[in-house]
Amino acid sequence: MRIDILTLFPEMFQGPFNVSIFKRAVDQDLIEVTIHNIRDYANDKHHIVDDYSYGGGAGMILKPEPIFKAVESIKSDVQFEENIKLPIILLTPQGRLFSQQVALELSEYRHMVLICGRYEGVDERVRQNIANDEISIGDYVLSGGELAAMIVADAVVRLIPGVLGSETSPLDDSHVAGLLEYPQYTRPAVYNEWTVPEILLSGNHAKIAQWRREQAILRTLERRPELLNKANLTLEEKHLVDRLAKQFLSPFSDNDENE
Ligand code: SAM
Repeated sequence: MRIDILTLFPEMFQGPFNVSIFKRAVDQDLIEVTIHNIRDYANDKHHIVDDYSYGGGAGMILKPEPIFKAVESIKSDVQFEENIKLPIILLTPQGRLFSQQVALELSEYRHMVLICGRYEGVDERVRQNIANDEISIGDYVLSGGELAAMIVADAVVRLIPGVLGSETSPLDDSHVAGLLEYPQYTRPAVYNEWTVPEILLSGNHAKIAQWRREQAILRTLERRPELLNKANLTLEEKHLVDRLAKQFLSPFSDNDENE
């Protein structure tokens, strides 16, 4: 996958994109990331990229021309196939909420462009005429789109086949199948008298898989019960949810037993 990122602060990407899984994906040519400084696409000699807001108000707005020029140059740079959609994504708190599902959807493209806003935001004509998607990473306001772009890129890249390597699968990760992940432990088996659940030391893979599935369901029920409405559960697991809900979530469950 090719990822082009438009930003006023290219240096912000150096740390996060130069370590661990992301760096390995670049080194293995599984992804190609190009960071474009929007300022380089400003025509005037002072490379001005922002201006006052029409109608007044505090704060500057990113001008449309440099962003249009940058996107046009990216499009002309690649063999652009008319019938294949190139996601041109504006990061904005007004966009659709980012989720594992959106990450999965984006991971299926061969190329995406991420536009990072700054200051008071981006001229509306960018949203209307060049972006074809708008993504928010949550209901809060960041100072710029760079951290949002890193989050989107990171979540997407780890879903590209080969990036995590064969030893790690994203399938059990929280949110992938609509559940939170089960609890994980590593050595030592006893730490400060806190023990690892016996079943995980048993070597019985079928029982471990079943325990993990139940724990994932229980954890989701405890923390994010609304996710269970969309999770792919068997009939048996739905009954399990009902039982667990009664056992663990009923405010009267302790008293019930004493009565
Ligand atoms: N005035 C804008 C508004 O209320 O919608 C917010 C501008 S914000 C200070 C500057 C830039 O940060 C935005 O243009 C956007 O690119 C980015 N940004 C801020 N919050 C974001 C979020 N939750 N998700 C994605 N991008 C965000």
